[in-house]
Amino acid sequence: MSQQSLDNQKAVVVFSGGQDSTTCLFWAKKHFEHVELVTFAYGQRHDTELEVAKQIAKEQNVKHHLLDMSLLSQLTPNALTQHNMDIEIGDDGIPNTFVPARNLLFLSFAGALAYQINAKHIITGVCETDFSGYPDCRDQFIKSMNVTLSLSMDKDFVIHTPLMWLDKKETWALSDELGALDYIRYNTLTCYNGIIGEGCGTCPACELRANGLNSYLVEKGVQ
Ligand SMILES: [Zn+2]
Repeated sequence: MSQQSLDNQKAVVVFSGGQDSTTCLFWAKKHFEHVELVTFAYGQRHDTELEVAKQIAKEQNVKHHLLDMSLLSQLTPNALTQHNMDIEIGDDGIPNTFVPARNLLFLSFAGALAYQINAKHIITGVCETDFSGYPDCRDQFIKSMNVTLSLSMDKDFVIHTPLMWLDKKETWALSDELGALDYIRYNTLTCYNGIIGEGCGTCPACELRANGLNSYLVEKGVQ
């Protein structure tokens, strides 16, 4: 029995409106004819995140699916979702921004959406290089998830992780290659304090992002 295969020119990007997933959006637009975005609302620290995601989708003229995943915040008290908690690194080396199984759940729902719109490709900005101790950002997990998604729906999905082996400097280099460095620099939100673009400059996310950008600009010779 032959099953209908998925559209090889269609892709879904797991999208937060941050630097990494916006780089993935531009990467996907380069490689696929039709790109759609999926953003998960799970009680982020800042509503700004969702607004930024919507705004970028609009500006880049791509269809945007916003899915409610607020149940995630019921599962664990966590600095990403409990807005009165400070962000800290735990004794186990894992930051308290960790939401257990978050990528497992996100990729499952992204897969279900990809099935609905007949998209073969799923893109996620996870990365092992700036490994924050999130086990479901590892390459091994993604490969396992790819097999699981395909088996669960009997479809030949391909999960792409263009940032998996890049550090932040190389991620900026990629965005430059894609012609999107300035757009990403000034329009995305990575800052834990909810400040768009260059951010607050002091939170761990801002530091990582700024260090990467500075070393890239120095290397490029413009700073
Ligand atoms: Zn910040």
